[in-house]
Amino acid sequence: MATTDGQSWTPTEGLKRGLPCLGAISPPKFQVPGVHETLDVIVIGAGYAGLVAARDLTTQGKKTLLLEGRDRIGGRTWHGTLDGFNYEMGGTWIHWTMPHIYREVSLYGLNDDWIVSQQPGGKLDYATVVAGERRVDLTHDEEATIIVRIWGEFCNIDGNFAKDAMPYPFQGMRNRSAMTEIDQLSCRDRLNQIKHKFNDVEITVLESMLLQMGGGPIERMGLLDAIRWFALGGHTPLGLNAIALSTRLRSGQSTLHRKIFDHARCTGKLSYSFSTAVDRIEDRDGLVRVTSRNGQTWKARKVICTVPLNVLGDISFNPPLPTLKEQAIKEGSVQHCNKVHIDTEGADLLSYTAWASPGKGLVAALADNLTPAGDTHLVAFGPSPGSVGGIHLHEGVDQLKTAAEYIIPTDQKIKRLVYHDWDKDEFSKGTWCFLPPKFVSNYLDALNRPHGNVLFASADYSDGWRGWIDGAVQSGADSAKYAIEVLGSCNTLRL
Ligand SMILES: Cc1cc2nc3c(=O)[nH]c(=O)nc-3n(C[C@H](O)[C@H](O)[C@H](O)COP(=O)(O)OP(=O)(O)OC[C@H]3O[C@@H](n4cnc5c(N)ncnc54)[C@H](O)[C@@H]3O)c2cc1C
Repeated sequence: MATTDGQSWTPTEGLKRGLPCLGAISPPKFQVPGVHETLDVIVIGAGYAGLVAARDLTTQGKKTLLLEGRDRIGGRTWHGTLDGFNYEMGGTWIHWTMPHIYREVSLYGLNDDWIVSQQPGGKLDYATVVAGERRVDLTHDEEATIIVRIWGEFCNIDGNFAKDAMPYPFQGMRNRSAMTEIDQLSCRDRLNQIKHKFNDVEITVLESMLLQMGGGPIERMGLLDAIRWFALGGHTPLGLNAIALSTRLRSGQSTLHRKIFDHARCTGKLSYSFSTAVDRIEDRDGLVRVTSRNGQTWKARKVICTVPLNVLGDISFNPPLPTLKEQAIKEGSVQHCNKVHIDTEGADLLSYTAWASPGKGLVAALADNLTPAGDTHLVAFGPSPGSVGGIHLHEGVDQLKTAAEYIIPTDQKIKRLVYHDWDKDEFSKGTWCFLPPKFVSNYLDALNRPHGNVLFASADYSDGWRGWIDGAVQSGADSAKYAIEVLGSCNTLRL
């Protein structure tokens, strides 16, 4: 099975489009209802939020139609497999301290499936910082000391490492006055407040970290999201790295998607249609009509819409969405970064990391694991294409090769590049959610509100791990729970 998403390049085969993917669904349609049938719920989008919502609805006996624009499940989280190695093209690292996704991992028996990135003991066991023309090699202890100093200082907005300002990241606005104040600032504002305390190498690491988090430009990145990530990392400078850039599923994210999808399917309550992009949603006379771009219409008592914030504006709503929701959609998430897999010959780089700002298209690279062929697999990130140092992946692979060669040591041979152009992807128009200044105070509540019989669920406006897989699972489960409550429960309580 293959998806049309993703691209891979090798020196011998050149550029190839599409990747073998466990999440590709064939045949793409199953028991699609006719126009006269009324469903309980239509779920739009088969990413984590949509899959979990569909699973929870169908296991509670609700007749559910899942509509998805792509040819696969998973949305912004999926893996492709090449020569026996699983390349996570989107969401990757998850952890047992992420409560909602860990529950899914455990429910489907994947507790033993962890694999750890950033292994110690490789030949080039150090970090390189590319600060302008200067390349500085640091031991990983020195690298950690810098991160503790700069990231700790950056996030220490209240003199208590954000513990007063944001005591609970799962109730991010609990201390509303402090949060509203922080929300006025961008990451650039905060950087300007503290940068006189650091040297050029330290500033390079901090800028690279920020660009990896939010894609940039740094002036468009809200400080509040950076502080929330710090709080989610246990209010410690190294916590986020340990939780959110460390452990992933050996068998790949699409394996878990399959299990959730198959669970929903085996209830007998799920119908679906893939490669079916929704064009409009109309809520009238107590029923919601959903029409696809090719003109097919279905109706249901409730709709759960899980499409990403940056593409929500491509669906037309009748009645129109309230002004606040529309303004929020217009502002959108700033994160459009490039994520690129780089395989290098042999095992030399197994413990390598790199930071570069401005870089030549990539600002961070970290070693993950060895491929079955014994080559090193690194994951690299570049700024959003519109930001300083950002590159457009659709313009060809040459710029990317230059960027990859620049961020790894010069004597290393690149054997493969694998990537997906999330920025140009019509069903995401960006990567994970990172919000601009003032967004949370102005729009987050409004975004989460139902619009008549249409509910909204997404990692992009979840509580807690907003912008992450965990947030998608939480949001999908919450919306399904709400729909089940308002539709009335049934007798088949099971999971
Ligand atoms: C490159 C990258 C790296 C990431 N790394 C991590 C990580 O390491 N850890 C982590 O926790 N998170 C990570 N994330 C974030 C995580 O992947 C997302 O937050 C999460 O997968 C979003 O899930 P979702 O269900 O809310 O949205 P999505 O997965 O985007 O699902 C929405 C679905 O709606 C579909 N859709 C859109 N428009 C339409 C339409 N008009 N009609 C029908 N269907 C439509 C889309 O195709 C998609 O399948 C990463 C994301 C990216 C892109």
